[in-house]
Amino acid sequence: SSALVWFRRDLRCDDHAALYHALRRHARVFCAFVFDTDILDALPARHDRRVEFIHASVLALDAGLKALAAESGAPGGGLIVRHGVATECIVALARSLGVNEVLVNRDYEPAAIARDRQVKRALDEAGIVFSDYKDQVLLDRNEVLNGQGLPYSVFTPYKRAWLQQLDAFQLRPYPVARHARHLAAVPDADTAGAMPSLADIGFERTNLAELPLPAGMAGAQTLLQDFLPRMAAYGVARDYPARKGVSYLSTHLRFGTISIRRLAAQAHEQARQGSEGAQIWLSELAWRDFYFMILWHHPRVVEASFRPEYDQVQWDEAPELWDAWIGARTGYPLVDAAMRQLHQSGYMHNRLRMVVASFLTKDLGIDWRRGERHFAEHLNDYDLAANNGGWQWAASTGCDAQPWFRIFNPITQSQKFDPDGRFIRRYVPELARVPDRHIHFPAAMKPLELQACGLQLGQDYPLPVVDHALARARTLMRFEGLKK
Ligand code: FAD
Repeated sequence: SSALVWFRRDLRCDDHAALYHALRRHARVFCAFVFDTDILDALPARHDRRVEFIHASVLALDAGLKALAAESGAPGGGLIVRHGVATECIVALARSLGVNEVLVNRDYEPAAIARDRQVKRALDEAGIVFSDYKDQVLLDRNEVLNGQGLPYSVFTPYKRAWLQQLDAFQLRPYPVARHARHLAAVPDADTAGAMPSLADIGFERTNLAELPLPAGMAGAQTLLQDFLPRMAAYGVARDYPARKGVSYLSTHLRFGTISIRRLAAQAHEQARQGSEGAQIWLSELAWRDFYFMILWHHPRVVEASFRPEYDQVQWDEAPELWDAWIGARTGYPLVDAAMRQLHQSGYMHNRLRMVVASFLTKDLGIDWRRGERHFAEHLNDYDLAANNGGWQWAASTGCDAQPWFRIFNPITQSQKFDPDGRFIRRYVPELARVPDRHIHFPAAMKPLELQACGLQLGQDYPLPVVDHALARARTLMRFEGLKK
């Protein structure tokens, strides 16, 4: 029998659930990736770091599959690559290859679920089996349930149950290489067409090559090797954006160039040996599973607040404040530095995501959905589940969100997490000469102090667009009103 493995957000050939099951059950296994025009054509810009990252990772996957086949003496290996409407391409390919089964790793986003349903229906009609597997997450949507057998909506008890269930069996990698001899050669018709270039799929180069984000499976390994010795210090270092405290693996996790099981197994082992940093990092991976689970059970969160009463919040239009936020000209240096980091690199440190999301919703009074969409356009690691969860957490509209009356102060956050302004100076060089004690809020400087560092507020750097104390009071009223 033969099968087709359809790669999507799982661009690796190591520890891969669908690939393993296909190779174990079928004599000939074809592998395919589609540059899906339904997704690509909807992107707002023709230069998108994510598309370039995916393109490079697909090339690497093709090479990886060929190497895997060569090692096991299989005749071919490699990836069939198409550019078109994925639902049509996959069905047509499965039919023309004459396979018995199409295998994928499960996706939890509503649009992907609808796409897969459509493909399954078409394949059913053609007598081809469609199967999906848990691979993206450690524990699946219905694997962690409370005492009543229902999904959790609060993180802490979820995490407790999640940690209890995360055992050696769940962390065991799928031994793909053991069965690689079943990899089929790419048909001649497809080798002739070869791999489309970035230009062929309608995209331009970005500054990806200048960023510390090497693509593909090898890129993920480079970042992992860099992080492993730092994992023990994660608990302390992770909150300081100027320090190299986090793993920077999120884009690789997003596109599956590294296996979540392999990562969790490393953290699990270090945690077992007493590393507090590893224990905390493992909890971050639990957040990731948590938000996938929430999205799957509550797809309405894509547009609506998790807690429906918060959909009555009256947000402001505030076009000038919105422009200041996206233009990194709010007069709050940490917020502006964070937004510049996002636009220049496609990455933003987690602490800063919380700060700027809180600032947009609680200081500027703007709907979290607008901020969420802006992140969706710019984040290299953009993931609907985590992004939606993070925004609703910051806006206090989500499950287990921060309480609405606890509002981040952008100045004290800056003093605490960028005490010497090192991060601010990296992205807001116009403040380079401002002394440490004023870097968090230059608007508080006296005329002589401004003169001493040659800074003209309102000209070199903007005056604050809102007064935090007043904005805070307005937000409290905005939320308090809901109770009436
Ligand atoms: P590390 O600190 O090294 O964490 C390791 C991994 O754990 C991450 O790569 C990620 O996969 C996962 N993780 C960590 N924190 C979270 C979290 N709070 N929720 C879910 N998963 C988490 N993460 C995304 O992957 N995509 C997003 O689109 C996204 N949007 C966010 C928006 C907001 C407003 C907020 C507050 C957070 C968002 N996050 C998102 C979560 C988090 O900020 C990033 O995962 C993290 O900054 C990525 O950097 P890292 O890989 O170095 O993380």
